[in-house]
Amino acid sequence: MFPGPDGEKTWPKKYPFCGGVFQSPIDFHNDILQYDTTLLPLELVGYNVSSTAHFKLTNNGHSVRMSLFPTMHIRNLPFQYTANQLHLHWGNRNKPEGSEHTISGKHFAAEVHIVHYNSDKYSDVTEAIDKSDGLAVLAVLIEIGTFNPSYEKIFSHFQNVKYKDQVALVPGFDIQELLPDRLDEYYRYEGSLTTPPCYPSVLWTVFRHSVKVSQEQLLALETALYCTQPNDPAPLEMVNNFRHIQEFDERLVSVSFRQMLGILTDLLLFWGGFVLSVTVASVLGIIIMLAVAFWLLRKKCCQKEREDNRRVIYKPATDKEDDNTC
Ligand SMILES: [Zn+2]
Repeated sequence: MFPGPDGEKTWPKKYPFCGGVFQSPIDFHNDILQYDTTLLPLELVGYNVSSTAHFKLTNNGHSVRMSLFPTMHIRNLPFQYTANQLHLHWGNRNKPEGSEHTISGKHFAAEVHIVHYNSDKYSDVTEAIDKSDGLAVLAVLIEIGTFNPSYEKIFSHFQNVKYKDQVALVPGFDIQELLPDRLDEYYRYEGSLTTPPCYPSVLWTVFRHSVKVSQEQLLALETALYCTQPNDPAPLEMVNNFRHIQEFDERLVSVSFRQMLGILTDLLLFWGGFVLSVTVASVLGIIIMLAVAFWLLRKKCCQKEREDNRRVIYKPATDKEDDNTC
């Protein structure tokens, strides 16, 4: 097993990419999010697999992993990405906060990763895994809620893959059931594998909405599995197999949805601008009206003075009038 949160600091010694750039996971907070109107709802093709086919579920010593079929792929990305496998990350029974990505600093209970490779450019996942455009991973955040029958289609087999290298067969089902209903709201950024060798080769799509599993289902995930083989004298529980969040300097995450805060800010700016415009227009209107009124008053005054001046002609020459003109 790869060392967990305490041991991951040592990864870069053996795997230099783990100490490099574009590392995952990250925290999604408002400062780094940028709304992108070009992000389309994801379209998943071939995800509904017949129950006559079987997925292979394996305990690989650091997660539980289910192989997927090459007939499954994602549309609406720059290339066609074909499914390869899915696996999970989780915490432990005392601290069920094992998601890798976080939202505004908040951890979720667990996280599913559905791994795809760029099948337009590469022949398989092994060839694609270290290429900058090699992989696309869909990430689903899991929290505690009601019982989830779709996740149970995987979780019910945990007793058969308790130990490292054990394998079970899972009857086919619609993998899309594992995703949230809304496939149009997600975070998108370029990052890396979250386990060694941490290649920066992943186009991440992390769905905005989480899915729920029951407390009992989560407990099964947190307690059923071991990193070690059946006869190991020192059995090691498979817990806390998530990586801590990574630095995300001078990069932005594209988001396909408008944040409520962003909408409120826009509304405030709109109404603020509207009120300001009305105020300026009103003040200008009053100034213009006052100017016109003053001009009319002056005009009337001048007319009266001119009439008075004409009457002066008949006055005695000594009785001088002020020669005021307008
Ligand atoms: Zn993963």
